[in-house]
Amino acid sequence: MLREIDARNIEGTIRKLVSFGTRNTLSAQDDPARGIGAARDWIYQEMQRYSRDSGGRLKVELQTFEQQPGRFQRIQKATRLTNVMATLPGAQAESKDRVYVVSGHYDSICTNPTNAACDAPGANDDASGTAAVLELARVMSRRQFDATIVFVTVAGEEQGLVGSTYFAEQAKKQGVNVDAMFTDDIIGSSTGEGGVRDNRTVRVFSEGVPSSETPQEAATRRSVGGENDSQSRQLARFIKETAEEYLPGFRVWAVYRRDRYLRGGDHIPFLENGYAAVRFTEPNEDYKHQHQNVRVENGVQYGDLPRFDDFAYIAQVARVNCAALAALALAPARPSDVRLLTRRLTNDTDLQWAANKEPDLAGYEIVWRDTTEVVWTHSLWVGRVTSYTVKGMSKDNYFFGVRTVDRDGNRSPVSYPRPQRETRSSGQ
Ligand SMILES: [Zn+2]
Repeated sequence: MLREIDARNIEGTIRKLVSFGTRNTLSAQDDPARGIGAARDWIYQEMQRYSRDSGGRLKVELQTFEQQPGRFQRIQKATRLTNVMATLPGAQAESKDRVYVVSGHYDSICTNPTNAACDAPGANDDASGTAAVLELARVMSRRQFDATIVFVTVAGEEQGLVGSTYFAEQAKKQGVNVDAMFTDDIIGSSTGEGGVRDNRTVRVFSEGVPSSETPQEAATRRSVGGENDSQSRQLARFIKETAEEYLPGFRVWAVYRRDRYLRGGDHIPFLENGYAAVRFTEPNEDYKHQHQNVRVENGVQYGDLPRFDDFAYIAQVARVNCAALAALALAPARPSDVRLLTRRLTNDTDLQWAANKEPDLAGYEIVWRDTTEVVWTHSLWVGRVTSYTVKGMSKDNYFFGVRTVDRDGNRSPVSYPRPQRETRSSGQ
């Protein structure tokens, strides 16, 4: 699959999207040549082409809704928005309800976010992410995975994450088990401000403390720690470990924060709805080429133009996504209901979890690290059991987690034990 991901397709998609002049969410819905409607229709047709090549297994649909004014500052009158979705259903009965979402936003803006008339090429922000999602859909829909993968390009990101908010809220309302969500946003350029060049790195942003944490969970966390062990953080570790194995020489730069300063992305509504999610972004941004009217000032070119994209680099980022997504969708579900038992004072560590139901499950691994380490450093195969006592290693001194392994050796991300309230609270 990684070899099939082709930078020429990515370039073709980006040039096509730029050709619509603007993709501002407030621009024309029904002009076949210019505006967001033209982009939506072209993406839809492209996805349908992949669907035919997949023998109809890839299901393409438009998720259309009307956003009323009042909730988002940049939506001042009722506006129709459409997310273009393509679903590749999982092939294993026990796993097909587990869903992985990979997203890019196909809308764009110029300097003024609500100006729907100005040119807004958005070649990097975010035709690059959109092109990666399309290429992933094309390549991955020819294969089978145990779990379900949804390839989605959303609208309204620049108006306040409007399309992704709708998607995440609908998923939550319908009880969809989104196990992980990736957003690819500004993955287009290997050259940053001042000409700094790096075509071998992508940043992956992940939050530490969950956005959806309740006050009670926060109180427990203050007592026993775990602020570096959200499910999104485990996902970032999994992506780094998996992708760097498949793409030697390419670095997944895990950044331990939700997003960059002053910026946000489509992973945030997923986090707020309790789902694990991360953001992929190039290592060095150049703000002259984001959200800028296309112009030359003092001999300097402003604007988000295709000439500033590096198509081979975008293909590499798409490969990072592909390796991680494929590994997630082939592996068993991460263990659920993982607990550290705290009913006795002991220098051993008692772990317990619920049994997985996949027929190809081989068993479980316990992982651990020193509390000051940033990635898991040790693992131990414990077989097909649902509890394990790590003798002579106190839960006070290490962080522990559990992951699943199937018969082909596919491993899930780590589940960190749900923080549990201490039973002894007085000063002992
Ligand atoms: Zn963006």
